[in-house]
Amino acid sequence: MSWDARQRAMLEAMGLKVWMPLPDALSDPAPASEQPLAERPAPSRTLREPALEAAGGGGGARQAAPARPVLAPAPAPMPAPAEPPAASPLQTLLPAALVAAQGERAHAIQTMDWVQLRDSVASCRACGLCEGRQRTVFGVGHEQAHWMIIGEAPGEQEDLQGEPFVGQAGKLLDNMLRALGLGRGSAEAPQQVFVANTLKCRPPRNRNPEPAELAQCLPYLQRQIELVKPRIILALGRFAVQTLLQRSEAIGRLRGQVHDYQGIPVVVSYHPAYLLRNLPDKARAWEDLCLARMVYQQRLGETGAG
Ligand code: URA
Repeated sequence: MSWDARQRAMLEAMGLKVWMPLPDALSDPAPASEQPLAERPAPSRTLREPALEAAGGGGGARQAAPARPVLAPAPAPMPAPAEPPAASPLQTLLPAALVAAQGERAHAIQTMDWVQLRDSVASCRACGLCEGRQRTVFGVGHEQAHWMIIGEAPGEQEDLQGEPFVGQAGKLLDNMLRALGLGRGSAEAPQQVFVANTLKCRPPRNRNPEPAELAQCLPYLQRQIELVKPRIILALGRFAVQTLLQRSEAIGRLRGQVHDYQGIPVVVSYHPAYLLRNLPDKARAWEDLCLARMVYQQRLGETGAG
């Protein structure tokens, strides 16, 4: 793959001089920790779900990832775990009962248009996060964007400004997107992204999202996806991945494949805040973006949808 001058400039802005697939990089060991929000102070261990620690971090043989990006209609088969886990991390993350209990509220959200959805998020008091927020962070971008980017939760700046990914991680994300000719500005839908988070309110002290918070906010994200109808989704970081795909493996295991969310291809990558602390993984993140672009172009070719 060759890059034009604009793309090279963008790659430099991302901290990548020239991207070349290194044999080491392609072996893709899962990082010791995929704690996504580098901008955040390290959350205290008591605020984390033990099961999520296991899902996001840890090295070793069980974390080994596919050698190269491959197009797979279904997630790659997992090596059998050495010991069966006591409980699925996902049951801890989004217990079915929690999601089901939402009943009428979730059903009402499913029928909302953009205006109603924005109003509903702005006035939401479904979980305790409403107490500490300055502003809700609905999402931003073209309402019919071909690309949808899903992150984790607002941080301090996002909470103040009411827009996702406006801090350092957001700048990196914008640079990466710009390298693909994408933005959250005012161009036509095929060149636009819609950026949303799994949570619309900032967790206190930027701690990890809690299962009940994710469950309460999920209908909003689901409705946003239904309204945008993106041609491709990029899920950044383990909370986005777990929420959307109901998969608990580390990002290092899930990236390099094409997943599916209700017929929409999903490419998984590292959270930009994680990349700020783990520079070598920027090359992998760029690889993921290239995979997403390939899948998108392939999909456009198949459907003829412009
Ligand atoms: N990290 C996220 O996941 N989302 C934001 O909006 C900001 C930081």
